[in-house]
Amino acid sequence: MKPVVVFPFRHHSTLVCPKAKEMLRDAGFDVVCNDTGRILSRDEQKDLIHDAFAIVAGTEKYDADMLSAAPRLKVIIRFGVGTDSFDLDEMARRGIKVGVISNCNAVAEFTLTLILGMLRHLPEYDSAVREGKWSRFESYELSGKTVGIIGFGRIGMRLSELLSGFGVRILAYDPCLNHEAAEKRNVKACSFDEVLRESDIVSLHLPSLPETYHLMNHQTFEKMKDGAFFVNTARGALVDEVALREVLKSGKLRGAAIDVFETEPVDAGNPLFSLKENTVMAPHISALTYETNYNAGIISAESIIRVFNNSEPIYPVRMTKENTKGETK
Ligand code: NAD
Repeated sequence: MKPVVVFPFRHHSTLVCPKAKEMLRDAGFDVVCNDTGRILSRDEQKDLIHDAFAIVAGTEKYDADMLSAAPRLKVIIRFGVGTDSFDLDEMARRGIKVGVISNCNAVAEFTLTLILGMLRHLPEYDSAVREGKWSRFESYELSGKTVGIIGFGRIGMRLSELLSGFGVRILAYDPCLNHEAAEKRNVKACSFDEVLRESDIVSLHLPSLPETYHLMNHQTFEKMKDGAFFVNTARGALVDEVALREVLKSGKLRGAAIDVFETEPVDAGNPLFSLKENTVMAPHISALTYETNYNAGIISAESIIRVFNNSEPIYPVRMTKENTKGETK
C-alpha cells in the first residue's frame, strides 16, 4: 500500500497548488482530499484520515481522540503557523512530527495595510463616499510615530523591515528576543510595559498559549498611551474583546485593526461590531495570498517527503518534553 497524504480542509483545491499534489504523487504517495467543498464533521474527518501517513491540516482540531483515528500518522503539517488546534503533547507522545508554514511576508504586509487603513480612516471614507456623503476630516500619518511590536519572531521582524521606510521608531518585546536581529533592523528592545507605555501603535505577533490568553485586558490596555492605536493579526484569544471595546468607546484608544477574533467564524454578537468609526476588521485573512498558498503547498509536500526519508519538516515545531508549546524553529 502506498503511503497516504490527506488534505482534510475544504479549501485545499483552491489553496493548495496542483504542483504540491503532483510532487507528492511523483514521490509515490496517494493523495486523498476533502472534495465536499464544506467543513467535515468529526466523524467524516476521522474516516478521511484513517490511513494517513501525513496530514496537511487547516484549522480543524487534532486532539487525542481525532489522532487516535489515524494510527499510521507520522507527520502533520499545519497549512499556516498557529498550532493552537493541535494536541502537541499527544503528537510528541506518539512520535508524530509536526511542521508549519512560514507566511511572514503576507501577514506583515497585511498588518501594515491595516495600520495605514486605520490611521487614514479608510473604511469610514469608503462607506461615506458610497452613501453619497462628502465626509472630509483629518486622519493620521504613520511617519514620526512609535510602533511597538509584541512578539519579535518571523512576522514581527518582517514587519519591522517593512516599516523601516516610514520614518518610525520601532520598539519590540519578546521574552526570547534575538538582540542581533533587533539591532540589525534598528529595533529597540524593551520590556512589555515599556512597549505599551511608549508606543503610538501596538501590534501583536506572538502565539496563543495558555499563558498568553487575554494578554491584552483591562489592566494592560490601561497601560497604553492615551489615544494610541492597537493591531491584532496574531490570535483572537490574546485579547479580551470586551475590554478592547471599552477602551475604544471611552476614547482611551483612538482605533483598532483586528484580523483575528476570540470566536471564528465571528457571530453578530461580537462586542466589537457595535463600534464602526474607529475599527478596521478582516476575517482572518492576513496570510491569505496567492503567493503564500502556492509556497505553502510546495513546502507541505517537501516537508512530507523529507519526513518519509527520515528527515525533519522544513519548519519543524520543537516537541521536546521541556517545550511542547508549539514554538517553531
Ligand atoms: P514565530 O514563532 O516566528 O514568532 C513568535 C514570537 O513570539 C517568538 O519570537 C516568541 O519568542 C514570541 N513570544 C512568545 N511568547 C511571547 C510573549 N508572551 N510575549 C511576547 N512575545 C512572545 O511566529 P510568527 O510566524 O512570527 O507568527 C506569530 C503569530 O502570528 C503566530 O503565533 C500566529 O498566531 C499568528 N499568525 C496569524 C496569521 C493570520 O492569518 N492572521 C497568520 C500567521 C500567523
